[in-house]
Amino acid sequence: MKNILSIVSILILVSCKSKVVETTETLKESDSKTVVITSGELRESVTYLASDELQGRDTGSEGIEKAAIFIEEKFKKYGVKPYFESYRDNYDAKGRAAFNVIGYVEGNDPNLKNEFIILGAHYDHIGFGKPVENDSIANGANDDASGTAAVLAMSRYFAAKKNNKRSILFTLYSGEEMGLLGSKHLAEKLKDANVNIYTMVNFEMIGVPMTDKDYDAYFTGFDLSNMAPKMNDYVGYNMLGLLPQAKEYQLFYRSDNYSFYKVFNRPCHAISTFDFTNYEYYHHVDDEADKMDYQFMASLVNKLIPAFETMSNTAEPEIKMNE
Ligand SMILES: [Zn+2]
Repeated sequence: MKNILSIVSILILVSCKSKVVETTETLKESDSKTVVITSGELRESVTYLASDELQGRDTGSEGIEKAAIFIEEKFKKYGVKPYFESYRDNYDAKGRAAFNVIGYVEGNDPNLKNEFIILGAHYDHIGFGKPVENDSIANGANDDASGTAAVLAMSRYFAAKKNNKRSILFTLYSGEEMGLLGSKHLAEKLKDANVNIYTMVNFEMIGVPMTDKDYDAYFTGFDLSNMAPKMNDYVGYNMLGLLPQAKEYQLFYRSDNYSFYKVFNRPCHAISTFDFTNYEYYHHVDDEADKMDYQFMASLVNKLIPAFETMSNTAEPEIKMNE
């Protein structure tokens, strides 16, 4: 999410309740229905992407090149195809050579495959931050290696299942921290190619759970479309909610979903669990992989997948903008 530092620092001061959660890798194997995505695979992705080796994944840096190679190799391993000639969608980010990484699982219905669902996250971060005890690498575990790991895991799921009638693009953006540059570029490119976007969901900072909420994650721009109520219907409970601060701080406009909303005027929203009280390391050198709750992340993604399965298979495009 771009430039919310000033908001964050005030709120954290007021009510920081962050806690480090020790995760256990083992999940109840018997519970096969919900264990499609494991905390282990999410931890593996976040641990590498947020490692010091990648130097905070600034756009145009060596670190982000390594991150892109990691994502490409995962797509290849999972059988996720490139949507363009290669996985890389190259563009210029204020004079820096930059690239989004795009994977594709084509729909299995002759007509509905021409409607596209986009699942996205940004894999870039800010590079370096304010030094703390000689550590100046802003590792960006929650922001947004957590979202990137979720998109990668879901690409593995859908490439294996191929049970989606509508096509799905798995899109990892760079240039987000520079002003949503990567997603703006891709949105324009898909528009020029007359791609029919049905919905877009962006995963932004889903590394730690919210406490004292009666929903699992919040949905930005909640009132702009019927997507959140529809997704809750698809899973049969109040999974996605409206966070008042998200509306107050206009988070809908601060994340990559906004690039697609602006160009396509279709339901394009972000899912997040960062509620300004549960994580004190936003754009901080301590935003490290060992602070993520991987069991929570896995349970959230496993709950979301049935909603995306239904979204990709309804006969009618029932998800719409509100009047
Ligand atoms: Zn972010």
